[in-house]
Amino acid sequence: RGQAPFITTRKDITKDITKNITTRESRNYSYAEALSVSSKLAGALVAMGVAPGDRVAVQVDKSPEAILLYLACLKVGGVYLPLNTGYTSEEIRYFLSDAEPALFVCRPAALDAARTVAAECGNVRVETLGTAAEGSLMAATAKATAHDTITPRASDDLAAILYTSGTTGRSKGAMLTHANLGSNALSLVEAWRFTEQDRLIHALPIFHTHGLFVACNVILMAGASMRFLPKFDVDVIFEELAEGTTMMGVPTFYTRLLKDPRLTREACANMRLFTSGSAPLTAETHQDFEAATGHAILERYGMTETNMNTSNPYDGERIAGTVGMPLPGVEIRITEREGGHHKPLPQGQIGMLEVRGPNVFKGYWRMTEKTREELLEDGFFITGDLALVDERGYVQIVGRDKDLVISGGYNVYPKEVEGHIDEMAGVVESAVIGLPHPDFGEGVTAVVVAEEGAALQEDAIIAALADKLAKYKQPKRVFFVDSLPRNTMGKVQKNQLRERFATTYQ
Ligand code: ATP
Ligand code: MG
Repeated sequence: RGQAPFITTRKDITKDITKNITTRESRNYSYAEALSVSSKLAGALVAMGVAPGDRVAVQVDKSPEAILLYLACLKVGGVYLPLNTGYTSEEIRYFLSDAEPALFVCRPAALDAARTVAAECGNVRVETLGTAAEGSLMAATAKATAHDTITPRASDDLAAILYTSGTTGRSKGAMLTHANLGSNALSLVEAWRFTEQDRLIHALPIFHTHGLFVACNVILMAGASMRFLPKFDVDVIFEELAEGTTMMGVPTFYTRLLKDPRLTREACANMRLFTSGSAPLTAETHQDFEAATGHAILERYGMTETNMNTSNPYDGERIAGTVGMPLPGVEIRITEREGGHHKPLPQGQIGMLEVRGPNVFKGYWRMTEKTREELLEDGFFITGDLALVDERGYVQIVGRDKDLVISGGYNVYPKEVEGHIDEMAGVVESAVIGLPHPDFGEGVTAVVVAEEGAALQEDAIIAALADKLAKYKQPKRVFFVDSLPRNTMGKVQKNQLRERFATTYQ
């Protein structure tokens, strides 16, 4: 039982390099300050009764102190459990009763509601943390005795429980170990060439793997610095680009920047890397961004359960529409289910993407059955994503298994149909879904966002696809909407679309 790999690595970067975390409100933490405040926070956690293995549930707005709380939690051997700030009391009730944390840290304004829910879930202790460091947690920290020692943890002890985004159903708690987080952060620092000189423009939320682990762990591991922004605001980003060196984004960041005439080579002159993930980046966005800035966005692929799995190369060719190759130590295979077996498919064929490696989680919290179904005995995890490996060895994500449409017994990959619709003049974007159909099982259905003033017609779209796609892939109906429903990470919520148009063919 050595020391926690994740925190141990942190220790050799305690020298006061630059300002580690800075905000536009000038609440800055150097590494030395971050270390000293997180030690005091750790002391406060111990005084509040947080013991090794205890979960610390946190639903707070983004602030540097929230990251220090994460570090403090690891320091005392706790399990950090961040929650989406959008969750209602009703949803919090589920998470508190599922995770049984020793402590729940909430926003100051949510204290009353949180107390009510916490009382119903086994009297969980509640503290508050606001974006200006106000609230009971930092007040207790100011008075606490610093806890300087790191509670020893084994590599496969839990560091965090992170709930999945809930895109395909109810969120599941992914149990992530110190080795999971540590190994992935190290891989990414190397793969993306992070150094102490880097300054990350951090505009992502910190309750998902992208903004929390990919962004913050990489910065901490590299001894680099990051600019913490409360949200993605185009005007602010243009100011920050001048001083940043890197930005990690979701595709919607890039589509929004592309709409702005300020996006030029000059504006990005100080930047060395833009990455994208969490949802598919279209080849068109990739190409337009490169044309405007000279930067080929580096797209990577990962998920809550596995951290990052694949990445386009830093030095080699970053190919639009692909998520690159497996990171060092990560194995992938594309399979087809045949009876109970998972039969590997030849290169080029679409199948289920499975991954194995030090990054793959330990299982779903209190869901043994689901864990057994998806985390195979040989260590491979069934991602739920359909993919192929192209002739250059690059992985292409085709879509989610659950979004696959099966019409008249034929597989229809929504991405292929969406690609053709998106190319049409007057179309902003589209989502293709399968809806219950009495004859076909599922009817291919397109939901389209039209450009302002575009006179798009359902018939015309269907007719335009006639010579591009086999009959069974062609949408039977096309609906127009003002915008596609997306969550905070820019993921299209196809569940919502399926519900909204459920009775179309009935
Ligand atoms: P849930 O599992 O609760 O339904 P979720 O899968 O959206 O939600 P996350 O773990 O946040 O929850 O997201 C991981 C998923 O995001 C991946 O399985 C994949 O479908 C998608 N994804 C991530 N990066 C990319 C990418 N570069 N291209 C395409 N899809 C991506
Ligand atoms: Mg998922």
